[in-house]
Amino acid sequence: MKIHDILIVGAGLTGLRAAFEGITADLDVAVLTKVHPLRSHSCAAQGGVNAAIDKDDDWRDHAYDTVKGADFIGDEDSIELMCKEAPQAVLDLDDLGCPFSRNEDGSIAQRAFGGASFARTAYAADRTGHAMLHTLWEQAIKHGTHIYQEYHLLKIIKNKLGHACGVVAMEIATGKLEVIRAKTVLIATGGYGRVYKANTNAMINTGDGIALAMKAGANLADLEFVQFHPTGLKTSGILISEGVRGEGAYLIGKDGKRFMSKYAPNKLELASRDVVSRSEAMEIMAGNGVDGAVFLDVRHLGRDLILERLPQIRQLSIDFEGVDPVDKPIPVRPTCHYTMGGIRTEKLGQTNVKGLYSAGEASCTSVHGANRLGANSLLETIVFGKFVGKEMVRFIKQDYIQQEDLTVDEDVCKDTVELLNKIKNQSSESGIRPAILREKLTEAMNKFVGVFRNEELLAQGLEKILEVKADFEKVCVDDKSDCFNTDLLTTLELGNLILLAEATVKSALERKESRGAHTREEYPARDDENYRKHTIASINDKGHVVISYEPVRLVNNDRYKPVERVY
Ligand SMILES: Cc1cc2nc3c(=O)[nH]c(=O)nc-3n(C[C@H](O)[C@H](O)[C@H](O)COP(=O)(O)OP(=O)(O)OC[C@H]3O[C@@H](n4cnc5c(N)ncnc54)[C@H](O)[C@@H]3O)c2cc1C
Repeated sequence: MKIHDILIVGAGLTGLRAAFEGITADLDVAVLTKVHPLRSHSCAAQGGVNAAIDKDDDWRDHAYDTVKGADFIGDEDSIELMCKEAPQAVLDLDDLGCPFSRNEDGSIAQRAFGGASFARTAYAADRTGHAMLHTLWEQAIKHGTHIYQEYHLLKIIKNKLGHACGVVAMEIATGKLEVIRAKTVLIATGGYGRVYKANTNAMINTGDGIALAMKAGANLADLEFVQFHPTGLKTSGILISEGVRGEGAYLIGKDGKRFMSKYAPNKLELASRDVVSRSEAMEIMAGNGVDGAVFLDVRHLGRDLILERLPQIRQLSIDFEGVDPVDKPIPVRPTCHYTMGGIRTEKLGQTNVKGLYSAGEASCTSVHGANRLGANSLLETIVFGKFVGKEMVRFIKQDYIQQEDLTVDEDVCKDTVELLNKIKNQSSESGIRPAILREKLTEAMNKFVGVFRNEELLAQGLEKILEVKADFEKVCVDDKSDCFNTDLLTTLELGNLILLAEATVKSALERKESRGAHTREEYPARDDENYRKHTIASINDKGHVVISYEPVRLVNNDRYKPVERVY
């Protein structure tokens, strides 16, 4: 049987960046993805990528902004690595041909972003992720990377020593299950924002890799920290990039006046996302919204600038909200955007399961702590994609023990086959349709686990999620075929979302303080004494989701001492 050196699940920026390291080290690298690589959510990123490239900027300032943005719960070793390596990571892509926007003198242009002390966000108009992903995809093709395209990950497999040694995946076109073996496995499957009804995420962001890693024994961390972006379009939740405020857009209420001076007198609209989202929610609750939304006003920027730098957001507003921002303010509201939590890793992507690595949005290495700064996520993908790639290469060349190959169970697919049969054989008369359960789950997350939380709301949320979990045992599909059975695959994705919803609410219930994106109404203050630690969610021997804690990785004697976070 063929055994790849490195198997990467996920062909977004993280996966393709890691693949580049493996291929250029002459290893056998394969990338597995449920959609064509260019349909990964990375392609939707608009605003840009942070790096202290300018001669007047300093990576240490970037690191401080990130630690502060994270509300002093980010892992500082990871944050320092990311900020220090950011300029090179961006220049690597520039060298590979990524068409970043330029200044008159030919240098890479940078714009202001929320929570940053310097305008350090490099961009390619408002289609940055698109430009970056195409650049790395070209490299994957050029180097002949093996792509398992339209393969759906169903299980991470381990050998008798408990080390990750491959996956079980379904070839979507035929429904055939395949065991794909590898010396190392990287989970780069992105986030799970689809667990909320209103979100900015692609349909595919269902956290499959995170949930399956948890089932394979990996720890998850900090799931309670879910980022609500201040400017999702009112009706569809589609994102209007923070880059728009970076270009000078205002937020206004029903009264037509700017309101951010009440909440963040210095940074105003460019305070960090948790602060701006909470401010909007308070304005809406106080009656200064219209139909659950406030407005993003770009009219004063003028038609020429909008057409040159913000063409995509203009088109999105016209197509999905019926508003041309050249003439009218855009209705926006806080919308689930990003999951700070994920598979718990060390600085170089190692998980607690040997041979299993994670990076990008699927992971929690934790560079974002309790709140991610805009444009730090694209950065995370290219820095940690690169470094986890290098670490896997090092592991294979130095530490890998050859005899491990022989020890996988014969019936490694048995439980997967049983699960698929159970769903397909459930009768349509007595079974429950997945769409009904998905609706109930995502509505519960929106209603009970939103921007403002309290014990009562969270407990109600957990109750609803556990009802959905129990009903999922009776879930049925109408399509019983093998070929492109999306009915079945979206049902499996729903199963993953249910597990992550449960772990998210349990993590949120236990964090009795307000920090970053997690606001507990009955505990309005940050409590560093008791809660400056990571929440770990795992599955115990009895199959239950349990919560424990881990210390934050600090550097140099707590160099970044916590202070009150004001903007
Ligand atoms: C609309 C939007 C705009 C954004 N704008 C910015 C921005 O301007 N700046 C910034 O820094 N960040 C931004 N972000 C966040 C950032 O884009 C993402 O966090 C980042 O791109 C995630 O990259 P990734 O490689 O970790 O995962 P993704 O790009 O999400 O890729 C995940 C991959 O995993 C694969 N996969 C998933 N499940 C399975 C499975 N079961 N089987 C096989 N394959 C699977 C998918 O096919 C895909 O290839 C934005 C996010 C959104 C939603």
